[in-house]
Amino acid sequence: MSIKDKLNIIINKLPKEVSLVAVSKTKPNDAILEAYEAGQRIFGENKIQEMTQKWEALPKDIEWHMIGHVQRNKVKYMAEYVSLIHGVDSFRLLKEIDKQAKKHNRVIPCLLQMHIAEEETKFGLDSSELNHIVSSEEFEALKNIKVIGLMGMATFTDNTSQVRKEFANLKSMFDGLKNSLSDISVLSMGMSGDYSLAIEEGSTMVRIGSSIFGARNYS
Ligand SMILES: *Cc1c(COP(=O)(O)O)cnc(C)c1O
Repeated sequence: MSIKDKLNIIINKLPKEVSLVAVSKTKPNDAILEAYEAGQRIFGENKIQEMTQKWEALPKDIEWHMIGHVQRNKVKYMAEYVSLIHGVDSFRLLKEIDKQAKKHNRVIPCLLQMHIAEEETKFGLDSSELNHIVSSEEFEALKNIKVIGLMGMATFTDNTSQVRKEFANLKSMFDGLKNSLSDISVLSMGMSGDYSLAIEEGSTMVRIGSSIFGARNYS
């Protein structure tokens, strides 16, 4: 099946209020262009250098989302163009994004990444760290970032009731955040294997890679 066909199958399953980030990490420009020609405009990458090369080479109306873990010393390479940073998991990182955004006279939209999975290895904040960040005066002083929601990754398991519980937990933190901040609108949760569950639990943005572009080859 072509990329275009796989993309359309997914788009047809998404409620209209759920947006799709086509995760193109490790995939070549011609694969991205095929999805672009089918109408897709939002693409997700997890390496800043790879994303920047693609941004330079590909049509400028693509919105690039950074979905991976962000190293502070690399923020400068994407500050000019990135549309949304999903994986913000510390105040220090937020501060660096603010500083680099300022150099380009931009306000960069960000999502705070929450740790919802059982695995130790997944990055993210817990709810007390979240509250600590968003209630601080230093946070309020950052004028070149805008936190517009939350992102999370569920445990990689076949146990759907566990995955559902983790998504529901993220959704309740998202609803709670609306009490502290204005313009909270994006809940980024759901990947190829679990996006239907994520949508049932209130996702507004899904990040789907392999179901569109095929399995990734990291060799
Ligand atoms: C790779 C990746 C995805 C997409 O995963 P698929 O299973 O290929 O859909 C989604 N979110 C993040 C953070 C990723 O790193």
